[in-house]
Amino acid sequence: MGLKGVDDDMSGDVVDGHGDDEERAGRRDGAVRAAVEQGLLGPDAPIVGLLDVRGIRASAAALRRAFEAVAAPGTAILHAFAVKANPLVPVLRLLAEAGLGAEVASAGELALARAAGMPAELMVFDAPAKTEAELREALALGVAVNADNPQELTRIDALRHPGRTRSPLGIRVNPQIGAGTIGATSTATATSKFGVGLRDEGAREWVVQAFAERPWLTRLHAHVGSQGISLSLLARGVAETYALAEEINARAGRRQVDTLDIGGGLSVNFASEATEPTYAQYARLLAQAVPGLFDGRYGLVTEFGRSLLARHGTVVARVEYAKSSGGRRIAVTHAGVQVAPRTVYVPGAWPLRIAAYDAKGRPKEGAPVVQDVAGPACFSGDLLAEGRALPPLDQGDFAAALDTGAYYFGTHYSYNSLARPGVYGFVPDGDGGVAFAVVREPQTVAEVVAESGGAHADALTTLRATGSR
Ligand SMILES: *Cc1c(COP(=O)(O)O)cnc(C)c1O
Repeated sequence: MGLKGVDDDMSGDVVDGHGDDEERAGRRDGAVRAAVEQGLLGPDAPIVGLLDVRGIRASAAALRRAFEAVAAPGTAILHAFAVKANPLVPVLRLLAEAGLGAEVASAGELALARAAGMPAELMVFDAPAKTEAELREALALGVAVNADNPQELTRIDALRHPGRTRSPLGIRVNPQIGAGTIGATSTATATSKFGVGLRDEGAREWVVQAFAERPWLTRLHAHVGSQGISLSLLARGVAETYALAEEINARAGRRQVDTLDIGGGLSVNFASEATEPTYAQYARLLAQAVPGLFDGRYGLVTEFGRSLLARHGTVVARVEYAKSSGGRRIAVTHAGVQVAPRTVYVPGAWPLRIAAYDAKGRPKEGAPVVQDVAGPACFSGDLLAEGRALPPLDQGDFAAALDTGAYYFGTHYSYNSLARPGVYGFVPDGDGGVAFAVVREPQTVAEVVAESGGAHADALTTLRATGSR
């Protein structure tokens, strides 16, 4: 099953974890070399995204074991992968095979999960702006829905069919416990746009009352944020949600809330290869901080995204030109804002490790020199890394942006009409080589034209006012 070397996450022992992390780095180097040798990467294919299939399986298994280790036997636990982190159908199929579900937040993500064969019972629909049509579809399919706000709950009141709707239904709350280190990914601030802010005047009472009036509401959901949220802040958010469920159930005199959806948000250590924090550490902390969570009275849903996929993706780009300007060495590559918008626009919050490879895809040796690793887009801030000490990158070499399996090349940004790179999954082939599979074809220029109104070229020049003047 390719699950070798994931036992570190059982112990959560950082020392043991290094073996695993080293293996992953070794597989990555092997894949870059093989991608060059097999022609996936080269002058005519100057950028690719690579996904480590074995690593993805290992992370999925580590997540499942971490929660199983602390939960009462028989506890229903659904790990719903946050599709926005890597919205590629074969990835979703791989995760489904590994026993995970999907958290979807748009009609598109719902369709992707369905295309991957994900059954409705393994899906959760969260989004802050669900339309009536989207709600109707989710309810018809039996997908779980968490209402974001009172207006949405009113819509659900009207759309659900008593006796027929199978969707588990809940309310998303915001415990308003504060931000992590990155504002844009902190969702439990006082003024966050998500969920019902529990500390607002009358809000907590409104939630309790909403459950009292609707015996069919059975879930509470909170996702307090993503990258930059500490384990202890995550745990506080879960504790607040749990306390509210206990209050609702005490008021109801029965276990009305039967499932707690604790969201995702485990941070990824982008600074080094070491996996920390681990799922095992988080699950153990939750077990300490919120013991009732795992005693078997509640089913659990998690919604991890970044921590499942980030480590297992690498975007590799050819150095088209190596130049120098104002005394600064600059490698002009094909990876920039289109595959790494967060890093390019907010470099302080989203630094990426860069690995240098030579023209044959071998790790580049040589004394590090300070250089910029630039992207192909036409604005000067399009830099993957600025002033980074790396072995000197020369024309024809490759620069790889590591840990980009979540929210990077999978979620393309079409600035400058730069085409979406091809994405390939890889596994060791058992013979010392590497086998690849196409996950997403590289986008063609014809496709770029087609999705940019190519079929409507004369739409504006032939448009005439139809009024009488
Ligand atoms: C983005 C998101 C997640 C996933 O967050 P990660 O930091 O990628 O784990 C989970 N739940 C909701 C509601 C989200 O919006």
